[in-house]
Amino acid sequence: MISDGDGTLFRALTNGWVPWSVLVGPDARVIFSENEFDESGFSIAIKQMYERPTAATATARRAVGSAGCTVVLGGGAGGLVAARELRHRLPADHRIVLVDRAAEHLYQPSLLWQMVGERRPSQFSRPLVRLQRKGIEFHNTEAQMLDLDNRVVVTASGDLNYDSLIVSLGAQLAPETVSGFDEMAHNLYTPEGCAQIHAALQDLTEGVVGILIPAMPYKCPAAPYEAAFLAESFIRRKGIRRNVEIHLFTPEHTPMPVAPAVLGDSIADMLAARGIHYHPLFTFKELRPETREVVASDGGAHRVDLLMVVPPHQAPAVVRSSPLLGVSGFIHVNPRTLQTDYDDVYAIGDVATIKLPNGKALPKAGVFAHAEAKTVAQRIADGYGGKTSDAEFDGNGYCWIELGDGRAGFAGGNFYAEPEPQVKMRRPGRPLHWSKVAFEKWWLHHWL
Ligand SMILES: Cc1cc2nc3c(=O)[nH]c(=O)nc-3n(C[C@H](O)[C@H](O)[C@H](O)COP(=O)(O)OP(=O)(O)OC[C@H]3O[C@@H](n4cnc5c(N)ncnc54)[C@H](O)[C@@H]3O)c2cc1C
Repeated sequence: MISDGDGTLFRALTNGWVPWSVLVGPDARVIFSENEFDESGFSIAIKQMYERPTAATATARRAVGSAGCTVVLGGGAGGLVAARELRHRLPADHRIVLVDRAAEHLYQPSLLWQMVGERRPSQFSRPLVRLQRKGIEFHNTEAQMLDLDNRVVVTASGDLNYDSLIVSLGAQLAPETVSGFDEMAHNLYTPEGCAQIHAALQDLTEGVVGILIPAMPYKCPAAPYEAAFLAESFIRRKGIRRNVEIHLFTPEHTPMPVAPAVLGDSIADMLAARGIHYHPLFTFKELRPETREVVASDGGAHRVDLLMVVPPHQAPAVVRSSPLLGVSGFIHVNPRTLQTDYDDVYAIGDVATIKLPNGKALPKAGVFAHAEAKTVAQRIADGYGGKTSDAEFDGNGYCWIELGDGRAGFAGGNFYAEPEPQVKMRRPGRPLHWSKVAFEKWWLHHWL
């Protein structure tokens, strides 16, 4: 037993919410280490330790210059950019096929504005079928199985053969893993959930509003904090602020823990300045709908009248049942090339996991999906042109942080910097809010 009264050891060995998990094999080699705990990932590592995973299958390469077909799975931020960039770079006889079970591309950052009544979903979604006009085949169907050895994607409407495959299926939300979710919570990450939150905020006259992050990892590390700021602003403008308490519960030790501490401290200060109660290191156990309580694993319970939740995230089922699934529960890729263990198979965006030099995972965010998509499109196009590609993802990223009252902050930098990411925050203000709005307009106009 080692005394750790001032928490020095805890801070050194944790990523804010859990200690490092290390799995040592029979030959005394470390075969798995991660400083965020995902039980399924750990179980997969143990299973693979005994089964010895097969090495990447060496499949026959297509001839340089042959027409070929690239299949892109997912028409979200990563898949959409990848398909458009490929079309731009490859000759017309190269087929580009995009598969998505949704008919519409949804620009997810705008969900937060929907939550406070500033957007309707029709204002931030666009039909993916528009891609057909741009020379991209769109298949509105579900990807069900990946047969990587034979280069086939099995979909609900037939098999698709590919020469190159880009998996950009995002993270699947799993609210069903939170007991009591349907009875008591609203989903902060879907249009349906945000419509309910807006209606509930309009009806609210008093009580406790809660924002809960039950599990890590989750996409867009800023989003729940932005939700808290926007809800606070909405409630204050409604004139009922003094009747309402706002609480944010998270397993993180600080906001946006992958970024330097100064950034998290500044967001924590802004929460405090607005009277938002912050509960870091909150280890969620369950929701108790009968008493409307959010319960922690230490038994502590908080009554909440209006609860918005970031549901737990997992890889989509088609990935979970494929050999691409890594020990983290997502797809492990080369951080620079986004290549998986399989030839000509790439994974980008939220479905991929990239470990940073400091051991933490690259946050799941559209800005990274966007840049990774460009890298992969360039690499594939170079490959078809017979060129050895030097296109690499450099780890740069940025994000706007909505603060309510028409103001926003902005943080950006290099997440691949060693030993820690170098990220700086700009002084919040109105121009940054308007640049976030301008980016939304640009995105929807430019890509679809
Ligand atoms: C509220 C909110 C705010 C956000 N704000 C920001 C922000 O300000 N900045 C930022 O950078 N990021 C933000 N994000 C995160 C960003 O939206 C995601 O990181 C990004 O969309 C990831 O892109 P992706 O291509 O990996 O996945 P997604 O965009 O989620 O796309 C995945 C696609 O795959 C499809 N799909 C899944 N499974 C199947 C299947 N089996 N068959 C066929 N299709 C399937 C889905 O329908 C979906 O269209 C925010 C997210 C949310 C929820």
